[in-house]
Amino acid sequence: MRDRVLAGFEDRLREAVDARTDELVALTQDLIRIPTINPPGDNYLEICEYLGKRLRKAGFAVELIRAEGARGDTRAHPRWNIIARYEGGSPGECVHFNSHIDVVEPGSGWSVDPFAGELRDGRVYGRGACDMKGGLAASIIAAEAFIATTPEFPGSIEISGTADEETGGYGGVAYLAEKGYFSPDRVQHVIIPEPLNKDRVCLGHRGVWWAEVETHGRIGHGSMPFLGDCAVRHMGAVIREMEDQLFPALASRTTAMPVVPEGAKQSTLNINSLHGGQEELPSSFTGFPAPLVPDSARMIIDRRFLIEEDLGDVKREMVDLLDHLSATRAGFSYDLRDLHEVIPTMTERDAPVVQAVSDAIRAVMDKDPDYVVSPGTYDQKHIDRIGKLKNCIAYGPGILDLAHQPDEYVGVADMLDSAKVMALSLKDLLKDIDDPKP
Ligand SMILES: [Zn+2]
Repeated sequence: MRDRVLAGFEDRLREAVDARTDELVALTQDLIRIPTINPPGDNYLEICEYLGKRLRKAGFAVELIRAEGARGDTRAHPRWNIIARYEGGSPGECVHFNSHIDVVEPGSGWSVDPFAGELRDGRVYGRGACDMKGGLAASIIAAEAFIATTPEFPGSIEISGTADEETGGYGGVAYLAEKGYFSPDRVQHVIIPEPLNKDRVCLGHRGVWWAEVETHGRIGHGSMPFLGDCAVRHMGAVIREMEDQLFPALASRTTAMPVVPEGAKQSTLNINSLHGGQEELPSSFTGFPAPLVPDSARMIIDRRFLIEEDLGDVKREMVDLLDHLSATRAGFSYDLRDLHEVIPTMTERDAPVVQAVSDAIRAVMDKDPDYVVSPGTYDQKHIDRIGKLKNCIAYGPGILDLAHQPDEYVGVADMLDSAKVMALSLKDLLKDIDDPKP
């Protein structure tokens, strides 16, 4: 039977969130109206100062941190981040909400102003509405409602707004994790309010390996290609081998990770780009080619791998394919260059943060949560790898499919529901570490 005191507390917490509906909408609108487009990384200081003012007023200690020297940090586009911390009435664990403050460029096809934060039919529209300023606003409202209802809570709450998630997070979470802000002695639970739908808990993501393959040839006159050796034809052989061998092999490999959408439950490879022969740089290319046999072709591959796969094996598979061509195809030679890699991560379902958010979803939405894994990566990779903190999930309002699309929006009711889930999770996670007084 449900504890009556707890049920009463839950009701008060829900009421406290509902009472802040207008504030939640206004906060989301304000955040959208600061266009933090990345690249290049505009207005980071402005949004951090806005958040700092807001959170200081709510009693948080605020730190603005520039990721000096990090990838992307320049005088014109400094990488500013904010971390705000609220200390409760007694010592205890810390729950950290991490949101990225950057958005991708709006692109075309909008029927509303992407930076006006228009409220229409219960939705707030704008670039970043769901990914993820709506989630950031919901976490702030959740924390403020929780603090108002439970002023003497044990432990502490942190809220961060971090730069550059859309470009790898090096000037954001990676930098902060390097500086110890996510170390397990400081932070014990992390919730990232990315738009994964309000009834889903995202446990982690697949792995990534980006690499460049270059095939070599020999330059010659285009009228006598037999005197040269065409690097693009060698690259064609690579692609044929991939079509015949690699793609079918990847499609046959499935994972026990609950990846969504369904198609991402297998290993995948995207050919990101191909360059062969004459450069088409706008400055030098006239639109009319010179008669040359290309001596170099380059291909960038974007391989996404499963938790069951080993990064070494993933690379070896590509090396084997290329070595096979070296052994069997006359004149074939290649280079393979690593560009970027991320190890897959998945938080265990019995981790405290997963349990707390799952219970809160059941209480607020009266249904069991779905557990998902993201097909792509997000800042959890840095919290896991650099911060060494495994107790981390993504949970937030908004529909993932709307992210990066024109007419992106977040539903007000969804933000309210997820704010209630976050507030109830705080109640669950922030317990007295010592037994209550005798
Ligand atoms: Zn995002």
